[in-house]
Parts: sequence; C-alpha cells; structure tokens
Amino acid sequence: MRTLDDLIKPSVRRLRPYTLTPYRVPVKLNQNENPFGAPPAIIEETLRRTAGRDWARYPDFVPANLQATLARFAGWAPDGIIIGNGSNEIIQALLTILVAPGTAVVLSEPTFTVYRLMVEVLGGTVVNVPPRPDFSYDIPGMIDAAQRTQSVALILCSPNNPTGVTVSELELRTVLQNFDGFVVVDEAYHEFCEQNFVPLLAEFPRLVVLRTFSKAMAMAGLRIGYGLVAPDIAGDINKAKLPYNVNFFSLTAAQVAVEMYATELRPLVEQIVRERTRVAAALAELTWFRLLPSQANFHLLHTPHIAPSHLFEQLLAQGILIRDVSRYPLLKDYVRFNLGTPEENNALLTALQAARPEQFG
Ligand code: PMP
Repeated sequence: MRTLDDLIKPSVRRLRPYTLTPYRVPVKLNQNENPFGAPPAIIEETLRRTAGRDWARYPDFVPANLQATLARFAGWAPDGIIIGNGSNEIIQALLTILVAPGTAVVLSEPTFTVYRLMVEVLGGTVVNVPPRPDFSYDIPGMIDAAQRTQSVALILCSPNNPTGVTVSELELRTVLQNFDGFVVVDEAYHEFCEQNFVPLLAEFPRLVVLRTFSKAMAMAGLRIGYGLVAPDIAGDINKAKLPYNVNFFSLTAAQVAVEMYATELRPLVEQIVRERTRVAAALAELTWFRLLPSQANFHLLHTPHIAPSHLFEQLLAQGILIRDVSRYPLLKDYVRFNLGTPEENNALLTALQAARPEQFG
C-alpha cells in the first residue's frame, strides 16, 4: 500500500503551512487591515444593491461591470484586468501558468510569504536575493540571479510586506529592461505611498501589477483583489483561475467601494498616513527600540533588547495583537504592527513605553 509520501508531491509534504492564530483582542494590529472598518455608506449601498439578488443564480461569467469600473479607476484596459478572490488568488493563478518543476522565481526575502509557498507547491524553486542591510532591494543582484537561473518571474512587493520599503520607478525600469521574464509588482499597499506602476504596463508587456481591496479599501473580509496585465496574458491567466471565483456580493461591494473611494476611503488612508508619522515620531523617543521607515500602513520594529516572542506576549496580555515576524529571514529581532485608529495607536505606544528593559532605567 502506498503511503502519503508516495502520493502527495514531496514539494508539498515538506512545506511548513502558512497559518495564523485567530486571537480575539480589542486592539488588532497584526494583519495590516484598515482599522476604521468599512465605511457605513459603502455597506449600506452594497446591501441596497444586493437585496433583491437571487442567490440561486451564478454571478456573470466575466465580471464585466467591475472590470470596467476598475479600468477607469486604475487607468488600464478592462480586458487586462483579472479579478480574484483576494490578490492571493491572482498570485496563485499567475504562478500556476508559469511554474513547474525545474522553473525558478526570483524573490527578495523577507517578503510576503505566499509567493514562496505557491512557487514551492507548484514544484518550482525560489531564488532568494536578500536585500541590502537597510532592507532596500538589491536590484542588480536580483537581475543577475534572474538571468543566470533563466527564471520565469521576478516578484517585487512595493511597499514590501513586512519591511515597508519601496522599489523606485528607475529600479523597476532597470529590471524590466534587463530581464525577459515576468516582472510582478505587488502593490497591495500602494495607496499609502501614492506609488502607481500601472502607467508602465503599456510600455512593458511582461509587467504584472497586483492590487487588493483588503488594505486601504477596508474589505479584507470580502476577499477581492485584482491583477493588471497585458490583455493577451490575462487570457492565459484566466485559464488557470476557477470560474465564478468571486461571489456577487463581493463584486458589488468592490464596485461601490471604488465609486465612493474619494469621499469615504481616501480620508481614512490620509489619516493612517498621518498616524504613521505621529507614531514614528513617538517611537523615536524609545531608545530600546528602532523603528524602520515605512511607506505602508505598518511598521517594522527592531527590538534587540527584548525577544520578539516576549514582546508579543506582553502586548497580547494587554489586549494588543501585533505580528511576531522573527521567523522571517533576516528578522530574528523584529516585530511588525499596522497603524490602528489614533486611540489604538496610543494604547500601543503606552504599552511599548512600559516594555522598557531594565538597563534603560
Ligand atoms: N500581497 C501582500 C503584499 C500582502 O501583504 C497581502 C495580504 N497580507 C496580500 C497580497 C494578499 O491580500 P488579499 O487579501 O488580497 O489576498
């Protein structure tokens, strides 16, 4: 009789699963969500539009309305927009059409862990090019590695989760001009730095831009993301995507969120960015920590004098949930937290102030 090791791909059997404990706490700063919640106006309008919808009927095969809305919103062709059940699903569909045993993908870790997970589930190999000491991307190193290994794709997350660093347009152009595989830019947090690489799509047909409704758009619970790509490539990615992947309720909510972005969501994004500056200034006073600059809605905190697991538990005991990222490559002494509401940030600052180690008096 065959064992599971005979049946399940070895690349999957040896993987450590990606998981997260669902702590219920008053101050939740561990998943880079929008702390203000979905604006009531967006919820009400979504409920109104979906109230009469027959649950027995499938959504449209092609979500053309949302594609058209996103096309206008982002400035790209509707048939070059792929809508996913979270941007995770776009990452999965894209890598499914590119990666097989023997193919390589270039990453720079620490970065979003789902990239490696998907490459390895599909039997491919990750070529990791570590960042520089300040966590900026080693762009020449990444290009060299990608060319040398004939990688199918090179993935840049900008701003990067969990470091908060961005890639510049010049750096991205250098990659696009010197590497003939796919170049993926994950813009999950772009609203917090106003970076936008969509205009480069017309110039570089191997560029893929990923976006999500889970962060600035305050809709993580409804699972919507999208990819922007040359229309003929979208056709191939769609072959790997499950039909009817996004339910009618989420499609409608995304439509409403885009329509109301300027009035309902942008002010929240602006407030989060102001909080980022305020929290960074306050933390600069706490000399036992070192805060890294961030262009996103979260911060990486270097904690050389307190073990990250200890700090995590200490804050959890006070009802504050942050992310212990000490198992990520290069981040042995780091934790990550996202910006919360002003009150939540004050609670965090007070708790971090109280976490002062003895030698700091
Ligand atoms: N990309 C990055 C960089 C992320 O941090 C996340 C979520 N943490 C995602 C993609 C996935 O987002 P979604 O909820 O759209 O699947």
